[in-house]
Amino acid sequence: MQENARPTGTGRAADNFAPGPLLLLGPPGVGKGTQAKNLEKLWGIPQISTGDILRANVAQGNALGKIAKEVMARGELVPDTLVNEMVAGRLAEPDTARGYILDGFPRTFGQAEWLDSWLKGHLDSPPVIAIRIRVNYNQLLRRITGRRSCPACQTIYNVYLNPPEKEGVCNVDGTPLVQRGDDKEEIFTERMRGYQASTRPVIHHYKALRRFAEVDGDRGIDEVSAEIVSTVRRLRKA
Ligand code: AMP
Repeated sequence: MQENARPTGTGRAADNFAPGPLLLLGPPGVGKGTQAKNLEKLWGIPQISTGDILRANVAQGNALGKIAKEVMARGELVPDTLVNEMVAGRLAEPDTARGYILDGFPRTFGQAEWLDSWLKGHLDSPPVIAIRIRVNYNQLLRRITGRRSCPACQTIYNVYLNPPEKEGVCNVDGTPLVQRGDDKEEIFTERMRGYQASTRPVIHHYKALRRFAEVDGDRGIDEVSAEIVSTVRRLRKA
């Protein structure tokens, strides 16, 4: 395990409940990272992002990193066997004993099946629970495509939700506002399409096993966190 891929969980939980393995799903911009951080703090469990671990391997330039680098540059998926082995190594670390939040894994039906049987066979762990943070598509579109920032002082605005006093310029210093390239509508639509295609088989898998739930993400951060917590507790009892 590389230093920069170390667990982010502190192991100090604000709540004694052991949530077991969780998978958080949600499109880009939905606040998945923020929610994962809240759960980390509450339950003292780490977030495990396969994208982050792969990038750490790429930075190290080891055998896995060399393969992953090319595959990732093409925007394709790293082969299941390699990712599964990498995840097995990570899950065997002691900070995962009470649970963890998976981010970006499983991403294929094969990975989901592998994870289920691996957990059963190796760690005698409870099964994975998948939670999707659902948001209204048009609201998400406005949140992302309306975003503008000041290149001088970095203040962020939203032309729909939090517009500047004078159109197109910063309230603080009058600098013309800019839009980030990947906040443009075509790119947003493309990323959403990619997200939907890649999560479809995984959602299908956990739905069929009745280990899937959705929470309404169109609310305040703390309300969404509270619903995730109660959903996990309910599914663990079921
Ligand atoms: P992410 O940071 O989750 O968007 O992942 C970045 C890239 O890492 C992806 O485009 C894939 O090439 C690779 N990757 C991350 N997670 C997985 C996974 N579970 N299976 C295969 N490839 C992955």
